[in-house]
Amino acid sequence: MKCHDFVDFLIDYLDGQLPVEQRVVFEQHLQHCTCCGCYLRTYQLTIELGRSVCRCSDDVAAHDVPEPLVQAILAACRRRPDPAS
Ligand SMILES: [Zn+2]
Repeated sequence: MKCHDFVDFLIDYLDGQLPVEQRVVFEQHLQHCTCCGCYLRTYQLTIELGRSVCRCSDDVAAHDVPEPLVQAILAACRRRPDPAS
């Protein structure tokens, strides 16, 4: 397995969807490649941080944000061009 193969299998590995044979090869590469081990850890940390931000955003922002700011943000979102067009 090469490093670019490692990236291709990363999501299936984390989801537990990688077949046993590929999982063994994946983990062998992980034991010997510092770069891919680092990449895996930063990938997992990014997912955890994203989840923690989403968990706390509802309670914190809703009470502290002034109403005029909320309205200005909503208005700006409505004016934003549709990326699909
Ligand atoms: Zn590697």
